[in-house]
Amino acid sequence: MINRENPARITEVVGSVPVTDPDAAVRRAEVAGRDWSALALTERIAALRQSAHTVGTRVEELAVLLARESGKPLADCRGEIMFALAYLRWVCDHAPRLLDDSRFDDSAGRLVIRRRPYGVVVCLTPWNAPIILAMLKLAPALVAGNTCVLKPSPLAPLAVSEVAATLPCVEVVHGGATAGQALVSHPLVRKVAFTGGDSAGRQIAAAAGAMLTPTVMELGGNDPALLLPDFSLTESDYERLVMASFATSGQVCMAAKRLYVPRSRADEFIAAYVRAAERVLLVGDPLTPGVTMGPVISAASVDRMRALIPDTAVPLGRSTGDLGTGHFVTPVLATDLPDDAPLVAEEQFGPAVPLLLYDTEDEAVTRANDSELGLAASVWSADEERAFAVADRLEAGFVFVNTHNRTGMSLRAPFGGVKRSGYGREYGEEGLLEYVQSTVVHAPAAFRPGGAGMAANAYPADLPATEPTPLDIAQGFARF
Ligand code: NAD
Repeated sequence: MINRENPARITEVVGSVPVTDPDAAVRRAEVAGRDWSALALTERIAALRQSAHTVGTRVEELAVLLARESGKPLADCRGEIMFALAYLRWVCDHAPRLLDDSRFDDSAGRLVIRRRPYGVVVCLTPWNAPIILAMLKLAPALVAGNTCVLKPSPLAPLAVSEVAATLPCVEVVHGGATAGQALVSHPLVRKVAFTGGDSAGRQIAAAAGAMLTPTVMELGGNDPALLLPDFSLTESDYERLVMASFATSGQVCMAAKRLYVPRSRADEFIAAYVRAAERVLLVGDPLTPGVTMGPVISAASVDRMRALIPDTAVPLGRSTGDLGTGHFVTPVLATDLPDDAPLVAEEQFGPAVPLLLYDTEDEAVTRANDSELGLAASVWSADEERAFAVADRLEAGFVFVNTHNRTGMSLRAPFGGVKRSGYGREYGEEGLLEYVQSTVVHAPAAFRPGGAGMAANAYPADLPATEPTPLDIAQGFARF
């Protein structure tokens, strides 16, 4: 058994999960896939809607469990579960349009393009948002007819296992890197979807590459939030900017992790930011009403943050209760760090954010882009047009305007990184199409009875005007 303790009260064991054999789980998933993929899409959707209904009746119980195992405030846990259900329902709503076959029967011949499942999909997920990050893989994979083996992080395995148990054709394997590697290297696995850090990502990509198994990689970020010289923030805007960095104790892939502010407005910014943190940031036990920031996930995270935070950092927010019981770290704004300080140059994944002052917009864009990571970013300006123009210059998979982090998400917008923040997308149409492969059946008209024929080694010449472009087909959007 693997025990999980409460990071807010480290002497309290929240629950335990069994160690499962990865090979047996993959084999069961492979067998289950034969029936599941043969079902009509409407039947798979009905089964997934039933799961959404079941989880919907248990939100409060699951949110408390998630808060106790992950250290995230209860309201955040409720929000995560509700968002995961909204995504599951979005997938059910849009699958019929996106997964439908494309059929042609015209002067070029008879052609059917099908969106076929891969087979067994391994989903490896982190602890910081275990339910939504699992659902982003399970829902589109299952609706398309794949079966799944989910390996959640041992640091938050409990609530997500309860959710997974309501879904059809999902095996759950518990364990750490060894269990993950056994799954990724398994010959019956046809796709791997990973969300997590850079180092695990490289090992997983290497192991999957050795098997020629395709991967989707959602990796870390070091997101810049760029306040343009004309920024004009209300009190609630400042509060949103604070929470963009400190939600989940800063342990969010798309948290605002570097704040770029015009030098001429630094004093005004710092004063308003500190006041906003005082209003909105309450550190304490995740189950205490009003708490907006809990502990970090582990003792190792506490040690890492202590090493990163300079003595000169400004403490932020308020606290409640005894913080000596768990892995609590005081949230801070670090105001005088150079660009090459580790807190600026690397993903901190904790409650400390550096303030970086700039003189010109070009300089700010250059410094914001000076990272191997490119997950998300934000631009804050009184002028939306100007913000969009600057957004186009930022090297990021997702740029928020006048917000950052979860408040800026959209179920219909693909999410994923550029550069070393990963490849492949979650959410939106692309997030669903990650889990299908196009397969084709084609009878060229030239060789059907009465057809014009063709030289034995010729390429086809004329195509009908309605022929889809390769891009249409690749994106699965074409309906002719
Ligand atoms: P992690 O990489 O340590 O672990 C993620 C998962 O992979 C866990 O289930 C873990 O047990 C497993 N794992 C670890 N090493 C493995 C290996 N060698 N082979 C197979 N499986 C392995 O990440 P974490 O600490 O749980 O999460 C934090 C990281 O996740 C941060 O870098 C964060 O930015 C990133 N993240 C990214 C996104 C995104 O959407 N891009 C979302 C959330 C978190």
